[in-house]
Amino acid sequence: MESKLYLIKEGEISLKGGNRNLFEKRLRHNIKDKLSRWNAEIEKQKGRLYLHLDGDADEEIVRKALSSTFGVTGFARAFKCEKDMDAIIKATKEVLEAYPFASTGSFKIDARREDKTFPLSSYDISLSLADVVHGMFPSLTVDLKHPDFTLHVEVRKDVYIYTDDEKGPGGLPVQTAGRAMLLLSGGIDSPVAAIRAAKRGLKVDCIYFHAYPYTSELALEKVKKLASLIAPYLGGTRLYVVPFTDGQLRIKKLSYPDETTLMFRASMMQTAEKIAKEKKATAIVTGEALSQVASQTLDAMSFTDSMTDMLVIRPLVGMDKEEIIKTAKEIGTYETSILPYEDCCVIFSPKHPVTHPIKEMSRKHYEALEMDEEIDKAIGNMETYYFNPLGKEEGSEV
Ligand code: ATP
Ligand code: MG
Repeated sequence: MESKLYLIKEGEISLKGGNRNLFEKRLRHNIKDKLSRWNAEIEKQKGRLYLHLDGDADEEIVRKALSSTFGVTGFARAFKCEKDMDAIIKATKEVLEAYPFASTGSFKIDARREDKTFPLSSYDISLSLADVVHGMFPSLTVDLKHPDFTLHVEVRKDVYIYTDDEKGPGGLPVQTAGRAMLLLSGGIDSPVAAIRAAKRGLKVDCIYFHAYPYTSELALEKVKKLASLIAPYLGGTRLYVVPFTDGQLRIKKLSYPDETTLMFRASMMQTAEKIAKEKKATAIVTGEALSQVASQTLDAMSFTDSMTDMLVIRPLVGMDKEEIIKTAKEIGTYETSILPYEDCCVIFSPKHPVTHPIKEMSRKHYEALEMDEEIDKAIGNMETYYFNPLGKEEGSEV
């Protein structure tokens, strides 16, 4: 069976110096992880990656896989042929039959002769292929500056032909920057925070605090759905579900009413830190933005930060809600996030939450709650779900 070929562009990785190999190795691994069922092989030639797959590879699945793999800035289905002008013309016709340009608009042939032993110049190749395109799409005009469509031809060891590449997500391959635990709620923000953190190469697993029956089974299903939607970007992810009803009730019973949210957030940080240490993660990621709600003032965030020695990353800190919503729509989590099942934070929220806690005082109040036992119990009863790099739930340890 003939194989399917894709050209992959790497972007920022190509700017890396001595570490470049490490980043590239991880990128290859992450791509293969998604497409192994079609015997994915990746070869490198002069700064380009070429992905070879079995001929029956599903193009839609490949497209989804590559457009959610950080480190890929662009990709295109490519066709390889011999270094011979007749073969190039024949292959060009095949490419345009498989990926036809629209019948109106303008085009350009971008030919590059990297192998200078090839007898025709880049210009000559372009002229011949422009004739081929005109023959197939007579009403298209040539526009070298702003073409609607471009056909690329690269003459190297072999000849590669491809049409416009699709945009990849950019960034750096996941797991080149270490591991982090994301606090994943059912809201709009935290899935976006996950993607932003993963874009810089973090391997992200998720923690959800569940307060059943105050938060319903449907709320948990919603969080699982969100985890499955972000899993392709995260190269697969674990979801740790922490049953925190007793912890919440203890906070509600013993803390000052206006401080309940603050105390809950403090206990989330402490719990997340414990889980992170156990799972060898070294940072915590949240979906907080500055001044979005009462618990997201500088004072409140600085208080919750003081509950952990770990680095707390808030990728959304400078984004406004509209930007966050736009990204949530792009990554496909928005429709799920706006389903109406409340998360526990909302149900236990005070009417007049403290917005400017005095750190030392609130810490004393928190210590007085003696949460350690509840936290250890909750971690002991934690359930783990795994979503693979294609977003499918797999082998959950419940
Ligand atoms: P989101 O849209 O992500 O829910 P939000 O704007 O509703 O955020 P909060 O509810 O104050 O804000 O939550 C801020 C952050 O705290 C969330 O982005 C998430 O990282 C974390 N968080 C809140 N509730 C939970 C929960 N039940 N389990 C895990 N993390 C949570
Ligand atoms: Mg929320």
